[in-house]
Amino acid sequence: MSTIRVGLSTSIAIVLFALAVLVAEPVSGISQALAQKADRVPVASAARLGGDERRTRFVTDLSNAVQFNAYVLPDPYRIIVDMEEVTFKLPAGLGTTGRGLIDAYRYGLFGPGRSRIVMDANAPIIIEKAFILDKKDGFPARLVIDVVRVDIKQAKLKAGLKHSPNQVKKDAQKSGKRPGSDRTTVSVRPKPKPKNAGKRSSRPVIVLDPGHGGVDPGTSGRRGTAEKSVVFKFALVLKKRLKATGKFTVLMTRNKDTFVRLRDRVRYARQNGADLFVAIHADSVRSGDARGATVYTLSEKASDKEAEALASKENRSDIIAGVDLGGKNDDVTGILIDLAQRETKNHSVRFAKAVVKSFKPGIRMNKRPHRFAGFRVLKAPDVPSVLLELGYLSNRHDEKLLTTSAWRTKTADAMVRAISRFFKSRIAQGQ
Ligand SMILES: [Zn+2]
Repeated sequence: MSTIRVGLSTSIAIVLFALAVLVAEPVSGISQALAQKADRVPVASAARLGGDERRTRFVTDLSNAVQFNAYVLPDPYRIIVDMEEVTFKLPAGLGTTGRGLIDAYRYGLFGPGRSRIVMDANAPIIIEKAFILDKKDGFPARLVIDVVRVDIKQAKLKAGLKHSPNQVKKDAQKSGKRPGSDRTTVSVRPKPKPKNAGKRSSRPVIVLDPGHGGVDPGTSGRRGTAEKSVVFKFALVLKKRLKATGKFTVLMTRNKDTFVRLRDRVRYARQNGADLFVAIHADSVRSGDARGATVYTLSEKASDKEAEALASKENRSDIIAGVDLGGKNDDVTGILIDLAQRETKNHSVRFAKAVVKSFKPGIRMNKRPHRFAGFRVLKAPDVPSVLLELGYLSNRHDEKLLTTSAWRTKTADAMVRAISRFFKSRIAQGQ
């Protein structure tokens, strides 16, 4: 009896061992690789401000020392800290209030493998010191930035001056990029769209543009819901529902929580031969109790004060993310309104009307559901473009609604109906 028992348990043990090897091998291989990758990305676990209106210190704790580059941009005064990719595990709401010379700060991905912290200063400043302390004796690594108040002349003179006490400069030079500068990463003027460029089939190309991302969180709700994540989740659902029809090619200007410049969103649409561009946002207002979705089209003259204020808020994305605009006009703002653009505008308005019609039965819309203003992201001269504000995060009912999957699906399906309707009539008109 005992022999049998031993034999049985031994063979069970062998089988289990074999299974364990078979199963554990690939799984642990993947999780190890993931763990190693996660290990390599330093984690920012805390951040704080100290000091007063003359001298203010910013400190962030990191799991490892990073290569960084800090500088000041004027108009408005901002402190930019560029670094290798960092995972920010900071408490929600951190950075929304300031101290001393710093009113607020933001952080997040700025591009592939690049993270950024942007601080808003309330006076002309210069960086006095910027350094990193290696981790030691159980303390994390610390990135320290000291800023001091100066007069405007002095601040302008020193603006843009880089503080990079380590390798960053050299690496950036190697890759042909000026640290902290975005000018080298963006081509000046997008090439005009050739007919059907980039299209593998005759399916209309829809470019979805979830607003904000990375270092630019957009507006936020009463319960702290970030616009960038609300609009991204909605865009993913809309993409899925559009693809399911088999009628459209669907592209997105960002596929993760990263910053994308306004002009790059427009350029992306044009370079991919977009037939329709849909920017997706969520609004918030300080006063009043506005609710519901609104669809905006481009106009130099805004339909109303609220629309004008919204456009100027949305147009600040690059400033929020610490892009040095250098007083230059955006490449697309300079394009004169010509006949093609007027035609594009007509299509945009027609599409906005299709959205309102499709939303009407079941999705809450604003009292004035179609409005217009000078949104920079709608300025492609040859791509019909609208900006959809899903609702108001400043309203607690809307904030709750916008984060439910039932609402997302229902609204995405209404958009699919609007898009199908729009292209149906375009095909009928032979365009
Ligand atoms: Zn927005």
